[in-house]
Amino acid sequence: MPASPDDPPALPPPERRIFVNRTLNLRSIRAVGFDMDYTLVHYRVEIWERHAYERARATLERRGWPVGDLAFDAEFVILGLIIDLELGNLVKASRFGYVTRAFHGTSLIDFEHQRELYSRTLVDLSEPRWVFLNTLFSLSEALLFAQCVDLLDRGLLQPGTSYSELYKVVRGAVDRTHAEGALKAEIAANPERFVVPDPELAPTLRDLRHAGKKLMLVTNSEWSYTRAMMSHVLDAALPSGTSWRQLFDLCVVSARKPDFFLGQSPAFEIVSDDGLLRPKTEPMRWEKAYVGGNARELERDLDLSAEEILYVGDHLYSDVHVSKDLLRWRTALIVRGLEREVAAVESFREKQMELSVAMAEKERLEHAQCALRIALLRAEATGAAPEENFHAKQSGLRARLAELDQRIAPLASEAGELANSRWGLMMRSGIDKSYLARQLERYADAYTSRVSNLLAYTPFVYLRAPRVSLPHDENPVGSE
Ligand SMILES: [Mg+2]
Repeated sequence: MPASPDDPPALPPPERRIFVNRTLNLRSIRAVGFDMDYTLVHYRVEIWERHAYERARATLERRGWPVGDLAFDAEFVILGLIIDLELGNLVKASRFGYVTRAFHGTSLIDFEHQRELYSRTLVDLSEPRWVFLNTLFSLSEALLFAQCVDLLDRGLLQPGTSYSELYKVVRGAVDRTHAEGALKAEIAANPERFVVPDPELAPTLRDLRHAGKKLMLVTNSEWSYTRAMMSHVLDAALPSGTSWRQLFDLCVVSARKPDFFLGQSPAFEIVSDDGLLRPKTEPMRWEKAYVGGNARELERDLDLSAEEILYVGDHLYSDVHVSKDLLRWRTALIVRGLEREVAAVESFREKQMELSVAMAEKERLEHAQCALRIALLRAEATGAAPEENFHAKQSGLRARLAELDQRIAPLASEAGELANSRWGLMMRSGIDKSYLARQLERYADAYTSRVSNLLAYTPFVYLRAPRVSLPHDENPVGSE
């Protein structure tokens, strides 16, 4: 059929779509702020994290820890897991905080033992016991911690060390790696090795400018690194003679998020390309670059109201939680792993249908079994004769249920291993939403795998939240 003039261009494939928790009309957004690392600049996680891991491991080795044989494993940890500092475990929890899968060190805890450990314990991030892995930067830290838990259990580290003390040392080693700057210097010198190119990023940002939006960069990275990375990902794709600096109306580096959203830190103006600073003596202005500062000052000085600002970042806490909670900015979370997750869900779609049909049949048969059983008890209580063929019916149902379970088990276990064989999907915990999914729906108005997914939607899109389903939307048990 020929395309009609009002047919819109095709939307991206499912894994590149924008998903919406709260309706967001992009036309009412005046300024779009972006985080840099893992938002505008996507690193090859495997290479970056392996480097961070190796450096932190070397730090521990220098302390005399027997970590020489430990090896990096990019698949061991996924975003959204939670470290249990009390027990030395890594857990995945449902949206209510129920633990649905757990590892002690690097070993899976079997279901019975897991139930013993956690049947009375809910994950609650306000307690210091739990550490939420809410950024890709925490993957190497969690792996190294799990491996060190194994060493501690085998008596190879200082006896009497608690898991919580162990975590502090591992965390310190990883933090040092990030703070030292050696890794960043290596990346800045060799960005094409570390950065995944995205040819659609520059056109996406330019479209936002064409539509009159102000673009802001608010990053925790320092000026020299920011310059090197932004220039690497954007300059070659811009018209000659222009650079990323002309694309962004405002830059804030060394922002110290989440403090940027929480506090009153003063800003310094960057007055030269090599990063010379002077104290800010007048209000923040467009076309300037700053070090530090804070979000309230930015709103006031640039005359922006909260609902006119969209902030896009990859860190669930530092980027979207605080900006949403305290300032009510509109928020979008970048979750690169969604591409793998959505593709895995898509490829399992037919089997998921099969599983759902089998589960519905199981519920129906169980209901028949319950009805038969209560009919027998009622008859016994009144001295009446049991239902005709009671035993035949009962054993028939039992056999059908056993046969059904045999079909369900492999499908259910395959569903639990989608995208990652140890942990399954990031966003689901069994049939429920995961803890990560709950945090995400609470603080991110929208989420998507990369900034450039907006290109196909245009800067004028009205992103509407879908109607959500509730348990009572489904047919009740036993209905046709
Ligand atoms: Mg980031």
